[in-house]
Amino acid sequence: MDFNTLCVHGCSDRYDITGAVSVPIFQTATFAHPGVGQSTGYDYSRVQNPTREHLEKTVAKLEQGKEALAFSSGMAAIAAMMELFSPGDHVICSDDLYGGSHRLFHHINAKNGISFTLVNTSFSEKVKAAIRPETKAILVETPTNPMMQVTDLRKIADLAHANGLLLAVDNTFLTPYLQKPLTLGADLVIHSGTKYLGGHNDALAGFLVANDPEICDRLRFIYKNTGGCLSPFDSWLLIRGIKTLPLRMDRQQENAQKIALWLTQQKKIAKVFYPGLPDHPDYELSRKQTSGFGSMISFEVDNHRTAEQILNRVELIQFAESLGGVESLVTYPMLQTHAEIPVKEREEKGINERLLRLSVGVENAEDLIADLTNALQTD
Ligand SMILES: *Cc1c(COP(=O)(O)O)cnc(C)c1O
Repeated sequence: MDFNTLCVHGCSDRYDITGAVSVPIFQTATFAHPGVGQSTGYDYSRVQNPTREHLEKTVAKLEQGKEALAFSSGMAAIAAMMELFSPGDHVICSDDLYGGSHRLFHHINAKNGISFTLVNTSFSEKVKAAIRPETKAILVETPTNPMMQVTDLRKIADLAHANGLLLAVDNTFLTPYLQKPLTLGADLVIHSGTKYLGGHNDALAGFLVANDPEICDRLRFIYKNTGGCLSPFDSWLLIRGIKTLPLRMDRQQENAQKIALWLTQQKKIAKVFYPGLPDHPDYELSRKQTSGFGSMISFEVDNHRTAEQILNRVELIQFAESLGGVESLVTYPMLQTHAEIPVKEREEKGINERLLRLSVGVENAEDLIADLTNALQTD
């Protein structure tokens, strides 16, 4: 079935006898058994709930995976994934990571005896050099947050499998509409469903998707016993959001392409990081492995006063954390998402006082450009 149709109709299972077109919200914590030794297939909503099950099956199909698990947030999904590892294990991950993942790894997982090496996964030789006997997995974000570096997923998947490692890919920025990591060799896909999948800045959610039956079983066991499950109502919001995922992303990327180009022509903008610009170092690779460039743009302005002026003056675009929704948002990575990354590490990556990150929404592109023009104006 075509991706667009799948987004609208989801998995074909029907749980309802009334003909309801919208998947019902099964707002129940528990399910009664018809008798001893009998079950409807549902026992308790932490373990499974029909609304969440519909969402999980839909997301599994969209990512071309065997199974998906829906969590209460992206971080709950990543924290559960980390339970696959044991004290002494080593994980290699992108050095330009989502700030929350960075904090989870270094302040929580590290205390439990898991060690990490951060490398720029755009360079497979650097990943190869970081592999140790105790390495168990490689975790990649592509494009990265906020520097928009792209990793060659097939190349890293080959390297991972040649060394018996798992490859996990955080696909939040592009979603399966534009990139399907499992088809490129990844073993696990991670999502913050809060972002493009939900798409309306109104619900938190997270997903893990996998293909290998043994990994699926291990994750399902962790899931039901750690309890970070998505509620029935939020599952329904995600089902509703996904119906328009392709429409939203088409519009968002069309807007992003216009705004990225416009930014490159502004005097006070020093650099623009968007993989859809032909002079981006990963433009060709992106064209090969994704079917679009997404709608996240990072850009560096001339000095920190301009950065602050933009944040203070934008009106339509809101100064807020998060991304991927219909409303355009701008963030100051240095103070928000990446505030706890050591200064030296952060500056080396280019996350400095001049860097801003823009999540382009579905508004009219000219209105967004007018808002930015106004915010950049000198008095
Ligand atoms: C937001 C985000 C997360 C964390 O997800 P939450 O839903 O906020 O918990 C993880 N990875 C990436 C790339 C993100 O943007």
